[in-house]
Amino acid sequence: MAPVTEQSSEGAADRLRLMAVHAHPDDESSKGAAMMARYVDEGVDVLVVTCTGGERGSILNPALQDRPDIEANIGDIRKAEMRHAREILGVRQSWLGFVHSGLPEGDPLPPLPEGCFALQTVEDAAAPLVAQIRQFRPHVITTYDENGGYPHPDHIMCHKVSVAAFDAAADSDAYPEAGDPWQTSKLYYDIGWSKERVEALHVAMIERGLESPYEEVMQRWFEHEEKRRVPTLTTRVPCADWFERRDAALIAHATQVDPNGWFFKVPLDVQREAWPTEDFELVRSFVDTSVPEDDLFAGVREKVSA
Ligand SMILES: [Zn+2]
Repeated sequence: MAPVTEQSSEGAADRLRLMAVHAHPDDESSKGAAMMARYVDEGVDVLVVTCTGGERGSILNPALQDRPDIEANIGDIRKAEMRHAREILGVRQSWLGFVHSGLPEGDPLPPLPEGCFALQTVEDAAAPLVAQIRQFRPHVITTYDENGGYPHPDHIMCHKVSVAAFDAAADSDAYPEAGDPWQTSKLYYDIGWSKERVEALHVAMIERGLESPYEEVMQRWFEHEEKRRVPTLTTRVPCADWFERRDAALIAHATQVDPNGWFFKVPLDVQREAWPTEDFELVRSFVDTSVPEDDLFAGVREKVSA
């Protein structure tokens, strides 16, 4: 007979828990989605925390552009898209409640809109995340590195807030009104587009006589290489069998994704062969583990089942 406490907070003590913090609805489906779907299938409780509602997102799907009905209701539409994506991935999801900053463009860059996520203080913006960490009690948190994966102001803010909340959640003096302290065991940065992965996919396409969509990306990479810290691939999680679900979740964000865009140009069988993992950089660990790893819960499983 299944333990009756399985769904209660006490019974959940034995269950592995992963929290993935993302800036916008759709980021969870393009960064670490196959990894999450795999862990969900293995019984891990996965909670995606989305910092903003993505209200200022441009409509990137050509089939849905120039539609005033969509533009007028973009906030609600993105919530519905998020519901669809989280059902496909099988994750739970919550909102942090901040407003999308938009992607400023131009030279000089225009100021960010008043009240947006990226203009909050880290201390204020971390408060609701600390409360969610203390409530959900994750063993592992994933977020972006200091460059935000790509330099959107909300992504950089997501990084700052996640790291601050990871530390503060464990500190009983910090945010005392936000619940009992909780020490998350590990913190990771998502590494979506490492140079190693882009090169492997690029070469795999050329070898098969297919056109690589990465020619230009690689060029830009080499140009910017000197300017940013190169992340270390400490942890590669095998999840090739879940790539299809990742793509389905991403396509569920219909206004944000061009289903014929470059993201989908590499056939899944080529991806499965050339780079069958999603990759992360371990930046904090309170358990024993040694890198390279192939499991975000390495060192945690032993502790949780002990
Ligand atoms: Zn984003």
